[in-house]
Amino acid sequence: MTTGYSERLVETLPRVRERIARAELDADRAAGAVRLIAVTKSHPFAAVRAALDAGLRDLGENRVEELDAKVAEFGRDAATWHMIGHIQGRKTAKAAELSDLIHSIDSAKLAERVARRASEMDVESRVLLQVNTSGEASKSGLAVESAVEDVVRLADSPGLRVDGLMTMAPFVDDERVLGNAFRRLREISEAAAGHSDNVGPELSMGMTNDLHIAIREGSTMVRIGTALFGPR
Ligand SMILES: *Cc1c(COP(=O)(O)O)cnc(C)c1O
Repeated sequence: MTTGYSERLVETLPRVRERIARAELDADRAAGAVRLIAVTKSHPFAAVRAALDAGLRDLGENRVEELDAKVAEFGRDAATWHMIGHIQGRKTAKAAELSDLIHSIDSAKLAERVARRASEMDVESRVLLQVNTSGEASKSGLAVESAVEDVVRLADSPGLRVDGLMTMAPFVDDERVLGNAFRRLREISEAAAGHSDNVGPELSMGMTNDLHIAIREGSTMVRIGTALFGPR
């Protein structure tokens, strides 16, 4: 039912935009510095339709199969498709083909797979390198200890265009702990950019519950699902 999602977005989208704007202001950052990625994962086609109708163009999905189905339904050019979830090795080519930016390059091995495919096809794949800033075993991503070194090396790989970094905050409410995780990502980004001109400035961090803190710490892209489309 398209109407349900469209009606919801009439309420939720201005509120989310307002939260982002207020966080930008509080952080003394330029209005519009932060891009909104609307996470439609686990919601039906109707949510995508409503998002497009509402003028949202950056859409995030976390499973390759679901991304595939939605791209088939709406078209590869209907949106800027963001792949934000873990990618299994055998689905690398599909994920790269179907998305404009992969946020979730969570291992050197995956980065090398994407780079190899891109080089074979004589293209560049735009990616973000995911860092496990909380150190939680349940989270994927490059380890903090070697992240700067890994980011520099991978950013210099032919076939990859590393637009920046991504992280998932730990599942806690403590603002100090969340802030530390986001700050760590920014520090890794700055250190890596000091060693390579190929490390882009994007920081994909912040979700429904922590976008304010992420924006305070320098986020350039927030990935928002629940606040826009409701619970999954
Ligand atoms: C689901 C998901 C989001 C969106 O989370 P919400 O809390 O619903 O805003 C953001 N990033 C990733 C990687 C996700 O898997």
